[in-house]
Amino acid sequence: MKKLPTSILQPLDWLLPAGVGAATTLRSPGLSEGKFAGLNLGTHVGDDPQAVEQNRQMLSAALGDRVMPVYINQVHGCNVIEINSDDYRKACLQTAHTNLSSDADVLYTRDQNLALVIQVADCLPILLADKNGREVAAIHAGWRGLAAGIIRHTLEKFESNSLTAWLGPAIGPCHYEVDNAVYDRFTSTTAFKPCGDNVHWMMSLETVAKEQLLEAGLDESDIVATSTCTYCHEDYFSYRREGQTGRFAALIWITSNQASD
Ligand SMILES: [Zn+2]
Repeated sequence: MKKLPTSILQPLDWLLPAGVGAATTLRSPGLSEGKFAGLNLGTHVGDDPQAVEQNRQMLSAALGDRVMPVYINQVHGCNVIEINSDDYRKACLQTAHTNLSSDADVLYTRDQNLALVIQVADCLPILLADKNGREVAAIHAGWRGLAAGIIRHTLEKFESNSLTAWLGPAIGPCHYEVDNAVYDRFTSTTAFKPCGDNVHWMMSLETVAKEQLLEAGLDESDIVATSTCTYCHEDYFSYRREGQTGRFAALIWITSNQASD
């Protein structure tokens, strides 16, 4: 039943603004082995660094010569990094991709040909684009980031208030059990279903994110939610399903500015 994608870059079911590209990766194809088997893109999970480097090279190659992927050290905070080509050139030197040494959970850019990469295995990847294709952002949204206002912090970076959002594969309410300490951090009445023991809840990261985007002024029609559970779908890495495991990616980039060209 396992499908083997021939391409590393999986197109999204999301109507993108002209001049914007976006994709996800899956577990395969890729060169990591064992627990990380496939296209693990995370350097922080205990995998062989050489295998991760080769996987990242594969992703770089799939993006072509012009588009350069940029990775960050994700820390479940809500720090937003705005990258521009100068920063990129400084950090990148001659490599085919770069891992900015900064700790952050959001990348934002107005520059072309920089692919903002978010690595996940159950946390929610959120991609945002201005409808004129001039600004994009990628968010690593776990419960901590969502509770700390990571979406609001990201939206503050945008000049445009005409945005479209994509909520990617993440652990779903079918498998994401959290306790009262997490529940108490949110006001949502629809993102949590009681487990019946007065202590635990099944949480939907996607529902929380969607509510926060609506609250911030996006229209329902501007939010695309994949509603794909990473625990249920073995095409994706899932931390809750597997414990130590790899990370897949969601990424977005600007290819050219279209609005008034
Ligand atoms: Zn599930």
